Amino acid sequence: MGCVFCDIIARRAPAHIVYEDEATVAFMDIMPIHEGHTLVVPKTHAADAFEIDPEEAAAAMRTAVKVARAVKAAFGCDGVNIFQSNGPAAGQTVFHFHIHVLPRWAGDRSIALRREYFAGDADLQRAAERIRKAIEPQS
Ligand code: 5GP
Ligand code: ZN
Repeated sequence: MGCVFCDIIARRAPAHIVYEDEATVAFMDIMPIHEGHTLVVPKTHAADAFEIDPEEAAAAMRTAVKVARAVKAAFGCDGVNIFQSNGPAAGQTVFHFHIHVLPRWAGDRSIALRREYFAGDADLQRAAERIRKAIEPQS
């Protein structure tokens, strides 16, 4: 199965590339939420955070920070969201790990997360315990 971001990285598909290094490429999102909306991808294909080598993810985040500073300087935005989605339930539509760099302006309503869960301290403690147990096997 083809991957459109692998095609962009290999120059088999067109994109407006703004930055490239040994491990990553940054290019304009084809359907920007705001002017300047940029995507950062690792050159090595991995679908998502569940699959990617953490070092590749770290390289992508280094590039995302660099791009965020450039986007802020270029567009004079008030803020920048750096985010990425994993799995269709999280809104992922292209299954090659990518980080969005999205300029934001005070008062814009382009991205608003709505809280669907209300936790007390005991709930936080239980959730923390579940995550600590799940982290252990990874370390
Ligand atoms: P996701 O929803 O998976 O986090 O984000 C995928 C992003 O990739 C979307 O914002 C979409 O506009 C962008 N996208 C999808 N196909 C292409 C493409 O062929 N070229 C570029 N430059 N961006 C794409
Ligand atoms: Zn790919």
